[in-house]
Amino acid sequence: MSSCNEPDCSKVLDQVYEFLDGELGEVELAQIRVHLEDCSPCLRQYDLDIALKALVRRSCQETAPADLRDRIMIKITEARIELNG
Ligand SMILES: [Zn+2]
Repeated sequence: MSSCNEPDCSKVLDQVYEFLDGELGEVELAQIRVHLEDCSPCLRQYDLDIALKALVRRSCQETAPADLRDRIMIKITEARIELNG
């Protein structure tokens, strides 16, 4: 017998985007949070969705994400040079 009275995986994954957008009610939020703590496949998918969402959001705002990354890398390199020298 599995102790599964939480929402099942497919329901959780259906609601991940609403969860991320803060569109769920407190009860649903709590159910999904509990499920994610217990269920590593869902948690992995949730992490992927967060990363994907951040990427999409960034690429909507920035015309050239690769360029932005290059600039950040240059800043890091410059900071490192300053620290060393
Ligand atoms: Zn799950």
